[in-house]
Amino acid sequence: MRKKLVIGNWKMHGNLQQNEALLSAILRDIDGLAVGVAVCVPFPYLQQTANLLSGSVVAWGAQTLSEHPSGAYTGEVSASMLRDFGCRYVLVGHSERRALFGETDAAVAAKFRSAQVNGLVPVLCVGETLAERDAGRTLEVVRAQVNAVINLLGVEALASAVVAYEPVWAIGTGVTASPAQAQEVHAAIRDHIAGANCNVAQALPILYGGSVKAQNAAALFACKDIDGGLIGGAALVAEDFVAVCRAAA
Ligand code: PEP
Repeated sequence: MRKKLVIGNWKMHGNLQQNEALLSAILRDIDGLAVGVAVCVPFPYLQQTANLLSGSVVAWGAQTLSEHPSGAYTGEVSASMLRDFGCRYVLVGHSERRALFGETDAAVAAKFRSAQVNGLVPVLCVGETLAERDAGRTLEVVRAQVNAVINLLGVEALASAVVAYEPVWAIGTGVTASPAQAQEVHAAIRDHIAGANCNVAQALPILYGGSVKAQNAAALFACKDIDGGLIGGAALVAEDFVAVCRAAA
């Protein structure tokens, strides 16, 4: 049985004071829950996060990384740098990175590889836009996003990774996929991977992301192929984030 996992994505939010209050409150209330918990914070707050979470049950990570190991890439941050700050996870291919920063499936796969080479667990974000869903292309789109990684690295690369299904139309919009809609895509992703390797598919955590809140989390997490959540807005309020974690526990 796959253990549930909840990852908070702070996006470009926070400051030193707020972060300390948020992380302290999460640590206070999360103790004893049978669920994996992590937060992906902005780069400048990795040291603070490492200081506050080290030795706790909450892991941490970053929201993106460079596909290059080092070099003349001004402004970029490499996987080994993230390791220096104790990161366990790193998001790759979040839809905001794909849409706003031009990350292609190939670039996302290269970032995925760079994360794994350096011992990080990549959280591969996939999901369709509303236009793609309306055109009946949801499964084709998410399969292509997963295939970019499989084609570059082989299906076994997914044995030490997480996939997050995040329909673009549900991210930050307050509109959540229904449990049935989400389950359908999660099952399709798992089936697709099972076509190449059944064991990898069965063990793979597939998280749902897109306006998950305390009120809708339990119904989503009760679905057979939904192994937890990638949480944006609700990860910025300790009470809300902990309530989502409780729903997964
Ligand atoms: C996200 O940032 O990945 C996300 C799912 O955001 P929200 O929960 O706010 O929709």
